[in-house]
Amino acid sequence: MIPVIKSIKEVREYVKAWRKDGKSIGLVPTMGYLHEGHKSLIVRAAAENDCVIVSDFVNPTQFGPNEDFETYPRDIEKDAALCEAAGASIIFNPEPEEMYVNALTTVSVDKITKVLCGKSRPTHFDGVCTVVSKLFNIASPDRAYFGQKDAQQLCVIRKMARDLNFDIEIISCPIVREADGLAKSSRNTYLDEKERKAALCLSRSLAIGRTMIENGEHDAAAVKAAIRDEIEKEPLAKVDYVELVDTENLEAVRDCSGGILAAVAVYIGKTRLIDNFIID
Ligand code: AMP
Repeated sequence: MIPVIKSIKEVREYVKAWRKDGKSIGLVPTMGYLHEGHKSLIVRAAAENDCVIVSDFVNPTQFGPNEDFETYPRDIEKDAALCEAAGASIIFNPEPEEMYVNALTTVSVDKITKVLCGKSRPTHFDGVCTVVSKLFNIASPDRAYFGQKDAQQLCVIRKMARDLNFDIEIISCPIVREADGLAKSSRNTYLDEKERKAALCLSRSLAIGRTMIENGEHDAAAVKAAIRDEIEKEPLAKVDYVELVDTENLEAVRDCSGGILAAVAVYIGKTRLIDNFIID
């Protein structure tokens, strides 16, 4: 069975031994409760590297005070089986006390963390950047794999890696969806049957927006309005945001002709879900 490692020291020992043998290392940071989306990242990392570390850590510092840290689903045994089948070498599954001992340091990326999810989750990206920096330092990978599902996170991590000179290739992997279009997410388990159906308004509304742009609509306001209208037809849905932004700097666009990220965050009952598409 794949080793599930609790200590930073032990991960470093693996890394040291692999480096001594000239092996390349891929890192896949996750919060666990793994599904096919995570699996696609691990499979790709295994194809592109000799050794793969999957971190499986529900990071307390990226949750706000009224968010779901306590109830976030966890199942390390199931995760271990998925990681092994996907070709990972080890799982790093620390307790919060192993990661944060009287820590006083935060890694914070400005500007691009203040928009989209950063507006309703003001401390979220500081938590993400700090834990990902720590994982980069612990695993010292050649490549790190992130899903486009969290498009803003990917943009922020890329910027952080550039700004702090992490010599790590940041690799983006496409969104994996359920057969009916819902983006796979560990949080989908919170949805009851009615909410699960209602959650389809995210992918459905984005498909409408995408078709408009592909058919030549340039006006971002018109595309945003169409996406919002479709979501608002669903009684169980409450829009957090619908935005069309530049893929590089995440600034709102008025014209849809350049590289565009269309992103939505929607509450379905109490569950906050996100989805997006990118047009290059
Ligand atoms: P999480 O465990 O939700 O923090 O996600 C860990 C990594 O898996 C992040 O880079 C996510 O973007 C990625 N991920 C989560 N869901 C999906 C999905 N449906 N498709 C592709 N990547 C995903």
